[in-house]
This record gives sequence, C-alpha cells and structure tokens, in this order.
Amino acid sequence: MQLETPTFVSHLECSMTGKVYEADRVHGLSEAGRPLLVRYDLEELGRSITKTALRERRGHGFWRYREFLPVRRAANVVSLGEVITPLIALDRLGQQRGRLLVKDEGRLPTGSFKARGLALAVAMAKELGLKHLAMPTNGNAGAAMAAYASHAGLRSTVFAPADTPEINLREIAAQGADVYRVNGLINDCGKIVGEGKDKTGWFDLSTLKEPYRIEGKKTMGLELAEQLGWKLPDVIFYPTGGGTGLIGMWKAFQELAEIGWIGGKRPRMVAVQATGCAPIVKAWEDGVEHAPLWENAHTVAAGIRVPVAVGDFLILRAVRESGGFAMALDDDVIMEARDRCAREEGLLLCPEGAATLAAYERSLREGLVKPTDKAVLFNCATGLKYPLPEATASLDRTKPIDYSQF
Ligand SMILES: *Cc1c(COP(=O)(O)O)cnc(C)c1O
Repeated sequence: MQLETPTFVSHLECSMTGKVYEADRVHGLSEAGRPLLVRYDLEELGRSITKTALRERRGHGFWRYREFLPVRRAANVVSLGEVITPLIALDRLGQQRGRLLVKDEGRLPTGSFKARGLALAVAMAKELGLKHLAMPTNGNAGAAMAAYASHAGLRSTVFAPADTPEINLREIAAQGADVYRVNGLINDCGKIVGEGKDKTGWFDLSTLKEPYRIEGKKTMGLELAEQLGWKLPDVIFYPTGGGTGLIGMWKAFQELAEIGWIGGKRPRMVAVQATGCAPIVKAWEDGVEHAPLWENAHTVAAGIRVPVAVGDFLILRAVRESGGFAMALDDDVIMEARDRCAREEGLLLCPEGAATLAAYERSLREGLVKPTDKAVLFNCATGLKYPLPEATASLDRTKPIDYSQF
C-alpha cells in the first residue's frame, strides 16, 4: 500500500529565527511567536522516490505525496476522497490559447482547498494524540476542520464572525463541530481560541499557529508542478488571506528544487486581496516586512477577509523573492469577473477565485504580465457556496407560449 511509504521529517524550525524544534511533539507557534516550518531530510527523500514511481500512483489525491508530508503512520492518514484538482484553460477570456489556467480547488472535499491544510493538521493531531481541536474561521476552514475531525473521531469547536455566510455555518454544524457566531472579525475569534486553550484543553488549529496546515497547502505546489510536467508557470495569482497557500507553494518549489525535480525558474507570486481588506498589498507597496492590522475590514470575498496575518513576513518574502507583486481589487470588479467567467467560460468561481481573474486582467492591462505568460489562477472554493445573481424569468405553461421570445 503506497500510503505506508516512509516520511522524512527531520525537525521543525522557527520561520523567523531558525531555531530548531524537535519533531513528533505537539507544537504551536515558536517561542518568537512565529510559524514553525517542517523540515525534511531532502537528500533521503530524493533518493526514496522518482517522478516515474510517483506518476504510477493512482488515487489518494494529495496523499500521493506522502514522502513530502509529515504523517509518520499510515493509520493516521484521514481521507474523505481527495482528488487531484483540474487545471482548466480559460481560452475565451485569455488572450492566447492555453496561457490562462484555473486550478479549481472547489472539487476537494468540503468544496474548498482548506481540505488540504486541515486533512494534514487533523491527521497530525491524531498522530500526536490530541482530542479536541478549535479554530476561528471565515467559513471554509471551519467546514474542513469539522469534516476531517469528525472523520478522525476528534472533537471540534469553531468560532466565526456573525456575518459568515449562513451556508458555511450550517455545513460546519452539520459536519459535527460546535460552531459559535461571534460579534467580531476572524482575529477576534482567534483571540477566543487562544485565550481558551488553558481553560478548555483544546488545541489551536488557527492558520499558521500550528505547523501542519502549511504542509497540506504545500501539496498545491507539488500537484501543480507535476501536472505541468515539472515546469512551473510564469506567474501564479493567489487570493491571499492568511497566506498559507502562497507560503506553502513557495516551500514546495524550494523542496522540489533541492531534490533536483525542477530547475531554478520560479513563478512570480502575486498576492491578491480586496480593497476593503488589503494589509499585505499595503505592506508590499510600503516596502515593509510586516503588515499592521487592517481596520474595518470588509469584502464579499469572505475567505480573504483577514485583517492581520501571523505569516505576513513569509507572504511578503515569497512575493518579493519571486519578483511578483500584490494587488487589491474592488468588490464590484471581483463580482463582475465572477459573473462573466461563469457566463462566458461556464466556470463558476468563488469570489476569492474571481479576484484572481480580475487581478490577472488588470495586470495584463497594466503590462505587469504578458499575454504569452503562462498564468495560473487559484479558485479556492466551489462557487456554489456563495450567493448567485437571481434568475427571474418564468413561463406560464397554461397560456400560449410565444416562441419568438427565445
Ligand atoms: C481561506 C481562503 C482563502 C485564503 O487562503 P489562505 O491560504 O489562508 O490565504 C481564499 N479563498 C477562500 C475561498 C478561502 O476559503
């Protein structure tokens, strides 16, 4: 069974100070209050698997990258039927055939790419003997945690801003978590989780406050590289909230380069936000390393309504090292892109995904990317979880039908 293959975790490391932490123990943030990154014996890893062996693996979705993941025992893998998410060419909206691609993460369990991070975090929680998990969420992360925790037999508790879309709150509850609406934003919810740790004994699964969600999100980078024949695209547009996916992909590319599976060329990483909540864009424009809290955050793209991110410096570092940039879009531009893409391409994006399309189009107009660049947009959730424009036409079948109207 392929899932029995070994893993190569050597240690964990503070992303800010480089201080080393022992693997196989429960960890939150580092002593410096920053995310911990999982490190592998890449030499051994590289010797243990070939691209050909990997290609022959069938099924198991992102668990096919077992060697690159931290779970030691196959019995702790938690799976709800993950799939390799498709890359879909937008040839009607793109200017050149096959140059504009959407990686549609809405096909994953619970309908969003949060499944990647939470599958790994829950599997590691199981492996480390944790029983009760808690997190703040804007919707999709809570749903993924609820589903994977229930599947693993763990308890979960979720805190969400009171205006989180109803569908998200209900799917979280339906999948076995205790979910509470909180009169605040995601960072206020995060505070409740942090402050309750000692009193409740729950483990804090907040974005980047434990080391393993990022490893799950890293599989987007591994998967993308494999799908494109180990040749990375020119540019990646990523809807950035806490930034786990952007940081995770950047880590994936580093690891792949170190084992010699890809060359030195890296995609330019573009962090996309909404103008109502754009802390990373502001920090990028100001040329600073940290992004202060964004006041009065608001946007229809709930998944990227994250006023403050613990991994801010990691996002900004990846964007800068890659020669990328950061860009914020207005909600009406985002929703226009969502509606147009659905109508003209038949691909229903979530608002966050639509933000990447709007950012791509603006970047083309401003000459920041070329029509010949191979660009990958991330659609991170199924568009079906979000309110859609009304369909108002109706027909009375008891009256004569005027067929000239169709
Ligand atoms: C969580 C989420 C994001 C942001 O992802 P990060 O990796 O945390 O930045 C974007 N879109 C959707 C739909 C999300 O659920």
